[in-house]
Amino acid sequence: MGGVSFERRTTRQIHVGKVPVGGGAPITVQSMTITKTADVEGTLQQIYALAAAGCDIVRCTCNEAEAAEGLAQIVPRSPIPVIADIHHQYKMALAAMEAGVHGLRLNPGNIRRPEHIKAVASEAKDRGLPIRIGVNGGSLDPALYEKYGGLTAEAMVESAMHEIAFFEEVDFHDYKISVKASNVPLMVEAYRQLSEATAAPLHLGVTEAGPPPAGLLKATAGIATLLLEGIGDTIRYSLTADPVEEARAGRQLLEALGLRERKNVDLIACPSCGRAEVDVIDVANRAMKAFGDRKLPLQVAVMGCVVNGPGEAREADIGIAAGNKRGHLFVKGRNVAVVKEEDMVDALVEWAEFIHEHGTDAAIARADTTLAEREAAKDRGKLLDDKGADANHSLEKIVEIRRTVGE
Ligand code: SF4
Repeated sequence: MGGVSFERRTTRQIHVGKVPVGGGAPITVQSMTITKTADVEGTLQQIYALAAAGCDIVRCTCNEAEAAEGLAQIVPRSPIPVIADIHHQYKMALAAMEAGVHGLRLNPGNIRRPEHIKAVASEAKDRGLPIRIGVNGGSLDPALYEKYGGLTAEAMVESAMHEIAFFEEVDFHDYKISVKASNVPLMVEAYRQLSEATAAPLHLGVTEAGPPPAGLLKATAGIATLLLEGIGDTIRYSLTADPVEEARAGRQLLEALGLRERKNVDLIACPSCGRAEVDVIDVANRAMKAFGDRKLPLQVAVMGCVVNGPGEAREADIGIAAGNKRGHLFVKGRNVAVVKEEDMVDALVEWAEFIHEHGTDAAIARADTTLAEREAAKDRGKLLDDKGADANHSLEKIVEIRRTVGE
């Protein structure tokens, strides 16, 4: 975060398996499998893919006896804690606990009988399991809907607080809460109010955000706004997409906000302009693909020209800038090598791996920086001669505009 930090609201800490949530613990990423939970191998395969993409806690639906039986086999083999998602049937919550899950999610909108809620909370208490009270704008208790004349932040918060009261009655305190809505400003307001009303850890999400890229934007707008206000202890992107995308997005958001340590490459790239010497979009996309999920916590830059690229991306651990059909590699702003244009992406990956293992100083030390700098200066000079300092001819245009307007 370059020294910038913001205060996080203090919440109570709970544990989902070995993963702490709230109370200053690192913010965690959650996702949900889309396989049938009864399909043990398929579900585990998806859980492993989610964990590799940065998911800390996974949720599986427990909607039938076969799903609970599946959970009994999934939980012991899962690399991350498993939460059972329960709707309507409180007995499925009891079955999921029997299966050994690490936590439950209950929807107060559709499990409403106090004796059922209390039976589940008592059992969870005996087993030391946490529960998420997952209020969802789309399935709010009709009575609250009526009381507030529609779906409002107040109605969602009241639904959560109403449920909490049953939990507290049986002395159960290991709960976290979510008040998700698909409307971003409504969701933000509901969480703000909720964070004033309780010290329980909060699970953030924009529900039914839809397919990317619009879904990603909606979810990010809601989740990031709250995180930057210090609200939120665990997050989920609800996208209509492969859940691996949800996990990746969650992880990337937390890394971008400086809330989680970087695990993967942070690829920065110039937007390209008239001065670009390569198709920056293509090179950046190919680089993104080549790095994939490699665990290289480095900043990597792809820059369109050697005139401005190395300077503008001087903070990057490794970068490449195009010039005169060649790629100029630079480490922390120092030119270190020149490669053919078609080898740009391979060279980036190779240098990134070296830096990951040995550090940037060793990378600069192994390079012939004098030669690399001379070659870069040569290409830079050539480009400036060709295109001039004003590649987009802005100054000429301005002169022309002034002349037209003045006429
Ligand atoms: S000046 Fe060079 S580095 Fe900057 S946007 Fe244009 S091509 Fe990219």
